[in-house]
Amino acid sequence: MECVTSGDVQRTRFASLSVGGKQTANRPKRSSPLSNVEVTAIAVDNPIKITVELQRRYHNMTTQLSMDCSRPAANRIQLFGIDIDVVDMQEAVTTITQWTADEHVECKFVVTPNVDHAIMLQENEALRRVYGAASLVLADGFPIIVASKLLQKPLPERVAGSELVPTLFDAATPTQPLSVYLLGAAEGVADRAAEVIHAKWPNVAVVGTYSPPMGFQNDEQENEKIIEKIAEVSPDVLVVGLGAPKQELWVHKHHERLSAKVALCVGATIDFMAGEKKQAPVWMRRTGLEWIHRMLSEPRRLVGRYARDAWIFPRLLWKEYWKRSDR
Ligand code: UDP
Repeated sequence: MECVTSGDVQRTRFASLSVGGKQTANRPKRSSPLSNVEVTAIAVDNPIKITVELQRRYHNMTTQLSMDCSRPAANRIQLFGIDIDVVDMQEAVTTITQWTADEHVECKFVVTPNVDHAIMLQENEALRRVYGAASLVLADGFPIIVASKLLQKPLPERVAGSELVPTLFDAATPTQPLSVYLLGAAEGVADRAAEVIHAKWPNVAVVGTYSPPMGFQNDEQENEKIIEKIAEVSPDVLVVGLGAPKQELWVHKHHERLSAKVALCVGATIDFMAGEKKQAPVWMRRTGLEWIHRMLSEPRRLVGRYARDAWIFPRLLWKEYWKRSDR
């Protein structure tokens, strides 16, 4: 974890700068040096948020800087404009399990970029910001792993959202059980997933499920209702299966008010758990052929998407290769 000490203040990159409680900028500008400020207080309220109070020497003005340390200052690589954590499945599960053991402070969120997300992100500034703010960015998608190796920034393995969730449930124990809320999938599907989870993982309790109606994200009342439903049970983990980029945008927009310790943006995972959609066999997932299985099971929705991805992704890879060789 990066920590702030008074001596380090000028070199520290701050996640947010607020003056009088009002957010003014994401990072201090170079043109406003911190040399004429005194650190008057440092509060480490919890393991993830550190607040530094600064007093300007020549103006009697107090400024608060806060730094979010929730994303471990571990190894990350940049690929296609995404900072991806260099972690394997076990490390990802250990990190999330640790977060669920901590006191609730602010809902952290995890995203799992695949090729389709990488392509969407090129044109979608809002999605880029969401990925930048995520506490953990895990490479879902075999082509991302292959690209990382070709570009000599190797990621250890694929950490797919649909495999992360059951592996996280495997890690729950009688002394550290997990409470989970399932948000997303069609009406009734999450309830069926809950039955499967209770039968298979005795240390996991599904404390709530909800399938929001179409277009809910633009309905303030509906959003409030979901936030309240989650607050009623305050789960350790919020499993969000609303499809990309809706789930990532929604979680990012509301994460400060979500009373879960961590939200996992994991697409069709709830469907897979309920048996609503059939997951590709393990050999296909391990050999990068899962897309064939998914495309054949939902051809109307996915053929166009995969064709577009197959056209654009090699170009993106080429661009990334040249960017690398320019350095
Ligand atoms: N979904 C939902 N509400 C929406 C849109 C999608 O609950 O408004 C669910 C849908 O029922 C399915 C999942 O989101 O369970 C889509 O997951 P998938 O990973 O297939 O989506 P993708 O990200 O590939 O589009």
